[in-house]
Amino acid sequence: MISSWVLKKSLTCRPNTRSSHFVAPSHSNGCTMSCSYCYVPRRKGYANPISIFVNIEQIGKYISRHAAKQGMFMQPDHVDDKYWVYEVGENGDCSADAAICDNVKDIMDLFKTIPNSKLTFATKFVNREMLTYDPQLKTRIRFSLMPHKMSKLVDVRTSPISDRIDVMNDFADAGYEVNVNFAPVIYYEGWTEDWLPLFEELYDKLNEKTKKGLVAEIIFLTHNEQLHDVNMSWHPKAEEVLWTPELQETKFSQTGGKNVRYKRGFKKELVDKMVEMVNQHLPHCRIRYAF
Ligand code: SF4
Repeated sequence: MISSWVLKKSLTCRPNTRSSHFVAPSHSNGCTMSCSYCYVPRRKGYANPISIFVNIEQIGKYISRHAAKQGMFMQPDHVDDKYWVYEVGENGDCSADAAICDNVKDIMDLFKTIPNSKLTFATKFVNREMLTYDPQLKTRIRFSLMPHKMSKLVDVRTSPISDRIDVMNDFADAGYEVNVNFAPVIYYEGWTEDWLPLFEELYDKLNEKTKKGLVAEIIFLTHNEQLHDVNMSWHPKAEEVLWTPELQETKFSQTGGKNVRYKRGFKKELVDKMVEMVNQHLPHCRIRYAF
């Protein structure tokens, strides 16, 4: 659902630390899907229709200038070996956006012309049309995955997890760098047993090429009291696993939002367990970060 075509007024690239070096100005805002833990509507007043930014050329020129100012990428780090990396999907899902406008294709084409940089975004939507975009390894797509059972409960309107896994080899063959986000990782009684079939499915379905390039980002659940209140009136079942105050503590985000996450010592145990499981069951897969 597109709510509007609007002008993106403020153009800035924000430094980032985990998935990318920078967050690029977005080409859209909002999402057709409705994951019950999503932070995007928190920033939009809890309605989440898509606004498409019409000044995509201006946005592209701004990104090109920003990348030129960075100079050559000289120091390989956890984010990348060769390039400055720009997150372009912070305010929505790029694969869903690409089904309704050309902005994502335009941005991907732009990065093919920028010698020192690549782009990245996470997605929960399968858009096979994107297999024709020819990104020439300048796009890192991160398929977000979680156990099937939990996804059915909290990933509202997204593509089924198996569909996401099924296209990963095709995306690698089509010139994408294919990574995964294990996110959000949600704690509940028996959570570890539910991840094992997912790791097995990945191991069985990915070919050697995709496995070789696979890197995982592991992100534990962050939730929010206002979103919890909203969800209680339309999706209370999910809140039974998302809202567990006895296990969670308050955290202020970089943008000033008041969120909750698993308590520090408890979370460390969860992170260590998840890392151990990935290392054991997906031995090809490197971990970019886990938090
Ligand atoms: S797909 Fe991403 S942006 Fe869209 S609702 Fe889900 S978490 Fe939010």
